[in-house]
Amino acid sequence: MKKTNIKNLSIDELHSIIDDLGEKNHRKSQLMKWLYQKGVEDFSEMTNIPVQLREWLDARYRISSLAPAEAVESPEDGSTKFLMECDDGLMLEAVLMEFEKHQTICISTQIGCPLRCLFCNTGMQGFERDLRSDEILNQVLYFRKAHIRPRRRFNIVFMGMGEPFLNLENLYRSMEILNHQDGFALGEKRITVSTIGFPGKIIDAADSGLKFSLAISLSGTEDRSRKELMPGSAPIMETLSAAEYFAEKSGTRTTLEYVLIAGVNDTEENARALSDLTAGRPFKINLIPLNEWIGSELRRPSEERIDHFISILLPRAPAVTVRRSRGRDISAACGQLRFHRRD
Ligand code: SAH
Repeated sequence: MKKTNIKNLSIDELHSIIDDLGEKNHRKSQLMKWLYQKGVEDFSEMTNIPVQLREWLDARYRISSLAPAEAVESPEDGSTKFLMECDDGLMLEAVLMEFEKHQTICISTQIGCPLRCLFCNTGMQGFERDLRSDEILNQVLYFRKAHIRPRRRFNIVFMGMGEPFLNLENLYRSMEILNHQDGFALGEKRITVSTIGFPGKIIDAADSGLKFSLAISLSGTEDRSRKELMPGSAPIMETLSAAEYFAEKSGTRTTLEYVLIAGVNDTEENARALSDLTAGRPFKINLIPLNEWIGSELRRPSEERIDHFISILLPRAPAVTVRRSRGRDISAACGQLRFHRRD
């Protein structure tokens, strides 16, 4: 009999295993804690669960895990990029970033990406497949077991390879476990999902009851030129209305990410338009000077130009910050991840 991958089950599905067997309720919590808090890889390690039940589970289910095939550390800023091999031989990338007071892990939801944003190396590499929910969770589990210091605050950003909202079912399935008290017990202060921003899906996410913060890749102030840069993007007005709805529902501000590209979207006119679009609304603006990559002619603006852009934004736009990307020297920064196949 082919064993079922237990970390792909939703919480309800996992709970029904225990209910269907007529086992006591607290076994549900024990099973989840072994899988997601202690991160065991074998049912025999679940020592507070009766041997008979462990053996029953072991006959029917398997516990998947991910480990890096390769790790590359940045000599410049201490961030590390991990290549992890999936069970079909494809590689996903995830990044660990060290800050003074916390650690941030950047995880992937797809291998490659179908969106083809011109400035993003991942997108220009094409699309291989969606990640399953166990593969999303196993990235977090790997980091938590191997790298996260005990009692240290850590944040998760869904900003690696892929578009989370194009893999919605697995995003939700994994998010439910990231949020749950018997899972990772993390909420909107610790988890951020970054998306190109499909308005209908943003509204659905706001109504889902799942706990995470939202970041939307805006990177343009006018529909036509934004669509040239990001062919998969939806109209700006609808996207921002949905972003506002999400902010109100979740009680967190929605971040608008704006990749600054020299001569493309970094003019005074863009800065003024961005102020007009955002003034007085529940947003934060995160400017990301472009990370350049070989094969693309797009360039990062000069520091003076970035400062000038900010000076026009600051008086009216809400909470402006600049992201100094980590891992640029090891191609681990935003938009630099790409997929590999093991030969
Ligand atoms: N598909 C999602 C998440 C992956 S991209 C999204 O579109 O948001 C994660 C972040 O990296 C986005 O804000 C994106 O705009 C940014 N990004 C992509 N390529 C980049 C590059 N070359 N330089 C800087 N930021 C980039």
